[in-house]
Amino acid sequence: ERAERAAAPVAPGRLADGTPVALLANLGAPDEAVRAVELGAEGVGLFRTEFLFLDSQAAPDADAQREAYTRLLAAFPGRKVVVRVLDAGADKPLAFVNDDEEANPALGLRGIRALRRSEGVLREQLAALAAADAATSADLQVMAPMIATVEETRWFVGLCREYGLESAGVMIETPSAALIADRVLAACEFASIGTNDLTQYTMAADRLLASVAGLQDPWSPAVLRLIGEVGAAGRRVGRPVGVCGEAAADPLLAVVLVGLGVTSLSMSPSALGDVRTRLAGVGPRDAERMAEAAVAAEGADEARRAAEAVAPGSG
Ligand code: PEP
Ligand code: MG
Repeated sequence: ERAERAAAPVAPGRLADGTPVALLANLGAPDEAVRAVELGAEGVGLFRTEFLFLDSQAAPDADAQREAYTRLLAAFPGRKVVVRVLDAGADKPLAFVNDDEEANPALGLRGIRALRRSEGVLREQLAALAAADAATSADLQVMAPMIATVEETRWFVGLCREYGLESAGVMIETPSAALIADRVLAACEFASIGTNDLTQYTMAADRLLASVAGLQDPWSPAVLRLIGEVGAAGRRVGRPVGVCGEAAADPLLAVVLVGLGVTSLSMSPSALGDVRTRLAGVGPRDAERMAEAAVAAEGADEARRAAEAVAPGSG
């Protein structure tokens, strides 16, 4: 079984001075693991479990889930694998969770909100993850989508503990969670910023709607400022903060994210090489200068140009 081959050694992501920045993969199926390792993924920063079940009419079978998670974890012995529990709703509706008509599904029952209404589905998922964890040696971390409050965070972490899952974290993809990130982080083990949704909700622009696509730009200074809040909160509270949205796959933006306090980046595996190369050419102070320039810019295009202008070797 190709997916169960041991992970090859990879050169970890580093800045020019050796500061580590973990470079991780976003995956939607266990079969994608081998290629991710070949492309240099140090682990998995986002496994989107809902992709396994997009066509399912009934809640996923416990055995099928355990088998899928075991295959995923077995491909990353000793390495970090962050599995996100079902993010059902909005752009990723699941028939067995989302049965209501909603006028604004992105603002409705999605992610953790939908799982609270379908607690049995979440419990089955956590049980399957715990069983896969027991059968493998990966460093499994479990993550909740669409968190907006500390109370939701506590509820999720409490449930994870019931299943013996000791590393539970949250996605920061609402402005609410970003603005109270210190309290959210104090209630869990880690956070990962989902820049796709954080941009959608900050700019109030539907991520699926072509007519407002110009606003769906993670270089927007408002989005960068929120990311900086989360990075600073992570340092204050002593918890790791990663990014797992598309922004992490943009090499220049990846440097800015590190300058904002992010310590790991997860992306589609094909982007890992270019991001690794770009990070290796900057030091921590360079990254901070580039981040400061971008946050101070007037708009998204200016932010990109400002970061480029102060990047090492640009003039
Ligand atoms: C995000 O919102 O940035 C994210 C990584 O999650 P998804 O794209 O699956 O909503
Ligand atoms: Mg999201």
